[in-house]
Amino acid sequence: MTIEDKTALTSFLNLAGDYIKGGYKVTPPPDIQEQYQEGLSSLPLAYQIDEDDEEAGESLSAEAGFATGSTSGSNHSFIPSSIEDIAAAINTCKACGLAATRKNAVPGEGVKNPLVMVIGEGPGADEDSLGRPFVGKAGQLLDRMLAAISLYRDKNCFITNTVKCRPPENRNPEPGEMAACYPFLEQQILLLKPSLILCVGRVAAQDLLKTGTGINALRGKFIDLKIGEIIIPVMPTFHPSALLWDSSLKSYAWDDLRLFRTRLASISEEYASSIGKDGKN
Ligand code: URA
Repeated sequence: MTIEDKTALTSFLNLAGDYIKGGYKVTPPPDIQEQYQEGLSSLPLAYQIDEDDEEAGESLSAEAGFATGSTSGSNHSFIPSSIEDIAAAINTCKACGLAATRKNAVPGEGVKNPLVMVIGEGPGADEDSLGRPFVGKAGQLLDRMLAAISLYRDKNCFITNTVKCRPPENRNPEPGEMAACYPFLEQQILLLKPSLILCVGRVAAQDLLKTGTGINALRGKFIDLKIGEIIIPVMPTFHPSALLWDSSLKSYAWDDLRLFRTRLASISEEYASSIGKDGKN
């Protein structure tokens, strides 16, 4: 079976399952849940945008004092003065039900002038315990993927998620939860102004780019994200959890990372010199 066949089949099964269950996400089969409970933190399942949920999320975020809504409807004039201010607002946020079950919110971490922002789906158990993004098995693989193209969370990256609190039992974040949290992500992007965004996984890519297109069609391409006046190219690729689950996807992810490295080298001389003339580290 080709990668396209696998992705199409997975999407079809997810959609069919969602339909049968009344338009919401399916619970993954027990064998897959077990694999993920052994240390992986998120699962690549389909979701559907629910208009009602989105509106609920927006009004709750407005109460929390942040600009609300999707890329098209946000108030881009409000940019918090520091990444710490955004983190403080995230740490006390009660804009959706995830606040009730989190141990720690996970605002994100990295440098304040990142070349690259890396955006994942949402914290898992390890991240929830520590209040830090991507620290479990998937996070360790993500660090290795980034290091392979000379990117590091303590040197030139900022790593965060579409939702900042752990969805219970590592389920996908619900549309209302993502809508409630989106203003935080948008403000982080506006403040940090990365040159490029690497978006890992279907859920994060669809939320950030406001699209229903699957990850197989989105990955490996640069898609402009427009927020107010600014435009930042985003490359979606596979989530490291998906690579741990299906190692045949690794070569596709590596193709994506090499393209990402080339584009970054064309933007930043400092980065280009850090990777050497032949594009290798
Ligand atoms: N998976 C994610 O998408 N984000 C994390 O922070 C950890 C695992």
